[in-house]
Amino acid sequence: MTPRIPVPPGSDFPLENLPYGVFDPGEGLRLGVAVGDHVLDLRAAARAGQLPYPTELTADSLNPFLALGRRAWEETRAALLALLTSDRFDHLPPGAVRPRSAVRMHLPFEPGDFVDFYASFHHAANLGRLFRPGSDPVLPNWRHLPVAYHGRSSSVVVSGTPVRRPHGLLGPETAAAPTAALDFELEVGFVTGPGNRLGDSIPADAAADHMFGMVLVNDWSARDIQRFEYVPLGPFLGKSFATSVSPWVVTLEALWPYLVAGPEQEPEAADYLRTSRDWAVDLSLEAVLRTTGGAERVVTRVNYSTLYWSMAQQLAHVTVNGTNVRPGDLYASGTVSGAEPGSWGSLIEITRNGAEPISLDDGSQRTFLEDGDTIVLRGWCERPGLPRIGFGECVGTVLPASR
Ligand code: MN
Repeated sequence: MTPRIPVPPGSDFPLENLPYGVFDPGEGLRLGVAVGDHVLDLRAAARAGQLPYPTELTADSLNPFLALGRRAWEETRAALLALLTSDRFDHLPPGAVRPRSAVRMHLPFEPGDFVDFYASFHHAANLGRLFRPGSDPVLPNWRHLPVAYHGRSSSVVVSGTPVRRPHGLLGPETAAAPTAALDFELEVGFVTGPGNRLGDSIPADAAADHMFGMVLVNDWSARDIQRFEYVPLGPFLGKSFATSVSPWVVTLEALWPYLVAGPEQEPEAADYLRTSRDWAVDLSLEAVLRTTGGAERVVTRVNYSTLYWSMAQQLAHVTVNGTNVRPGDLYASGTVSGAEPGSWGSLIEITRNGAEPISLDDGSQRTFLEDGDTIVLRGWCERPGLPRIGFGECVGTVLPASR
C-alpha cells in the first residue's frame, strides 16, 4: 500500500494507524484522520461522497461516530484505506488535506463521564509505602477488583491547553492556598463506543464492541490538597481541576497487533473479570519535564503492558452493577508505573514525596512542578516487522495560580 499522502520514516501516523481527531483549519471544527504530517478532513471527504456515514463524519465531535459501533468503524477504516491508496484520492476537493502544523487541535470527543482507575500494581504499592508505611502497601481489595474513582469530565482538556495551579485547603487552615505539590500522572485512557442500557452490563469478552480507541492522559494532581481531602471518599478537588488528553484517538483496529498478555493475576479474577483473549498493550510510554529555561529531562519510561488490570476488565467492572456507559466516555488507567526506579509515572513516586529531588540540566531541582514547567507525554507501539503505531504527544504547561 503506497499512501497518497507521504509518511516520513519514523512517523507516529503511518497508514496503518489512522487515528481520529477534531481540528480547526480556521473555518470551524471538523473530524480528521492523521496521516504522516498531514490531516485528512473527513467532512470534506464525506461530502465528496468518498466515505460512508456522512451524517456522523460531518459532525464536530467524534461522539456520533462512536455511537455507531464496531462494524461502522471497520467499514470506515476500510474506506479510508481505499481512499488514501487509490485514484479516488484525486477526487477530493481542494483543502481536504492540510499540514497538521497549520491546524489547531480540539478535544476529539465530549466525555459525558470520566473514570480514573488505579490499575498499576507498582503505582499502588509505591503510594501505599509512602502513605501507609509499615503496613501492606496494597490494600486487601486491590487484587480483587479494579479500584477507581469518578473523575470530572468538564475539565478534560486537549493537549496544549495550559493548566492553572489550583487552590485548595492544604490542611486544617483558614484559607485556600495554591498547591505546593503539583504533580503529573502518566496514564492511558480508552474511549467508549455504543455502551449499554441502564440495567445491563458489558461482559469482559464483549469489550471490543464498546471500546473505540485510546489516548494519552495526564491526570494532573495536587498532592497536598489530595492528601488532606481524600479520606474517606477519595480524590476530589486535588484532581478535578484539569485532565489533559492527547488529540488523536488511536483505534483498537490499529492496536490489535500489539495486544499481548498482561501480568499473571493472583488470586484468580472474579468470574465477570475473566477474558478469553489478551488485553494488555505493548505500548511504550515516556514523560518529559521541560522548564522555561529550556532544560528537558525524560523523567520516566515504562510499558503499559505492565498494568495489572486490563481495559476489558475495567469496562466489565464499570458495568457489572448495571450502570450505563455512553459513547465518548473516558476510562483512564491510573498512573502507569513499573517495578524499577526510572519507570515511575508521577513525581510523588520519583521524588519519594519530595524527599529526593531530581536535578535538571539548567542546574535547578524539582520535587513537584513549578510555574512554567511543561509535561510532555509520549506513547508508541513498535516491533520489528510491524508498523509503528504512535499516539503523538500530550502536552501541558503550568500557569501561575490566580489571585
Ligand atoms: Mn490518576
